Amino acid sequence: MATTHVHSANATVSNAPSHPGVLFVERLPGSFASRLVSLKPFKPGDVVARLEGLTVGPKAYSSVQCGTGDDEHVELNSDLLYMNHSCEPNVVVDVSSSDRHNWHVRAVKDVRVGDLLCFFYPSTEWDMEQPFDCTCGARTCLKTIKGARYLSREELGRRNFINAHIWKMVQERDNTGNNVPIKAKL
Ligand SMILES: [Zn+2]
Repeated sequence: MATTHVHSANATVSNAPSHPGVLFVERLPGSFASRLVSLKPFKPGDVVARLEGLTVGPKAYSSVQCGTGDDEHVELNSDLLYMNHSCEPNVVVDVSSSDRHNWHVRAVKDVRVGDLLCFFYPSTEWDMEQPFDCTCGARTCLKTIKGARYLSREELGRRNFINAHIWKMVQERDNTGNNVPIKAKL
């Protein structure tokens, strides 16, 4: 996460790689410092990994939101936990399918061996448990990452991919006037 914010601190992930030969966790000292490195090259559109072994749990720094309901948060239970945030990410986490077997991480840029894998957290998260300051250095860096709730349609639309449940929540926000974002609506 961004380049240094990581879903990690108290993660209950074993040290055995969950995706040997594909993904590698670079474990660095300190909370939120470890990161996920690709051991394989990927082209835009390639599936990097399928989301398997998910468990439903409360919203947490380590969870991924997969729907509009309060109970629609899952733990990844794999090294994918260590994907950092970037405002211009090289992968997306796609949980938009109604069939969970289709949920996956997909490259949206060329990924070379040794590249860090990063996704755009507000593409899954509406209102994050642990906001943080982003230092990804991208031209479009949003600086403070708190979730899609605080972003305009324009800011979200600039990204490669935003999950369907987030667009649905944006629509509800903008139609009802509830949960008015900090930044002006378009
Ligand atoms: Zn950023």
